[in-house]
Amino acid sequence: MIDFWSQPWHPKGIISNILPSHRTKLALASAHSLSQIHNSNGWNPVLSKPSLAEEFSTLKEAIFNSENLNIPIWKPSTSGYFSTKSAWNAVRTIQLKPPWHDSIWFPGHIPRHSIVAWKAIQDKLLTKDNLLRFIPFVDTQCPLCCAENESVNHLLFSCSYLAWIWRVILRRFGTRRRPKKELKEEEQWAPKNFRGKGQISTALKLCFTSSIYHILGERNNRVFENSKSHKSVVLGRIIVEVRIKINCLGISDLPSKVNHQIADNMGFIFNTKFYAPRLCSWSLPSANEIKVNVDASLEESGGGIGGLLRHHDGSCIVMFSKLTDREEIFALEILAIENGVKLASALGTQYLWIESDSLFAVKSVAGETKYPWKQSNRIKSYQNNLGWLHILED
Ligand SMILES: [Zn+2]
Repeated sequence: MIDFWSQPWHPKGIISNILPSHRTKLALASAHSLSQIHNSNGWNPVLSKPSLAEEFSTLKEAIFNSENLNIPIWKPSTSGYFSTKSAWNAVRTIQLKPPWHDSIWFPGHIPRHSIVAWKAIQDKLLTKDNLLRFIPFVDTQCPLCCAENESVNHLLFSCSYLAWIWRVILRRFGTRRRPKKELKEEEQWAPKNFRGKGQISTALKLCFTSSIYHILGERNNRVFENSKSHKSVVLGRIIVEVRIKINCLGISDLPSKVNHQIADNMGFIFNTKFYAPRLCSWSLPSANEIKVNVDASLEESGGGIGGLLRHHDGSCIVMFSKLTDREEIFALEILAIENGVKLASALGTQYLWIESDSLFAVKSVAGETKYPWKQSNRIKSYQNNLGWLHILED
């Protein structure tokens, strides 16, 4: 309720200051709220009395929405309504996000894991090195590896117990790297490598926070419960929790080979999206020809090529496939053709018919277009020497 006399509801200021003598004159002496003097029906008729009309005429010019009179407005919120979020934002000091923020707090996080990881990264856990400040002569040995002194930095990164677990997890995500020895370095690595909005990226972040949570749980079991678990058991706890969470979220990532491999390694159920098959024609080579169909693919982790050699009756002679370094897709298409040619040459083929779905690769090899100089040696190596090459686009 807004007090008519003492609150600054009027654009000209507080009414008691503007019209100090009128309070007693006003017949509505008992009326203190603005709504009693002005509401949806307009101004109280008493203000129209000749003795008051002139003085109050300037106040009546105030323009405001009478429907909103006496409704409290929560200024920290843009909507005007109170919320704990806006109250918290009003009283707190907003600072820049630390680099590890998005690795701990992300959509789909497990709250109890994130809270423990958050405290750990800020060195707010009562590890033995921190306890030393309050309790002298405390045993400082790390209960996990029993080799070094316990600190958050040691527990989370330089302890061989967690280093093994984290290395196994990273390997399951197709990353071969040794965790850094220093927490600060790992904090910088994580944000760069935990990017992405898919569930595979979420899974890696979950593994990060879950590893911290479970390693500290194991540490507490050893210190307070005198019970020990092998590191493979702790690894199993981490993976099961992450697996349950991810399978509940459902994977919507691109069903690439790399993502499928990670899903297989982690036990995620990949909701594969099936694409409608596309019909294409394939014709038999003539009686004295061998036909080679080749293809290449490129993914984040590397490339791959493959091919199939067939007799004139369509029966398969030999297949080939291999993983390659990550190159441009054009280079891989050319490499696939080269492998097909070499294989056919080794079989003593007289007439060869090659099909590739890369029109650019086909035209390049057939000498019908210019091609990147990087591939010229590779292309010319068989283009010049093999007169029987016969290439058609698929
Ligand atoms: Zn240790």
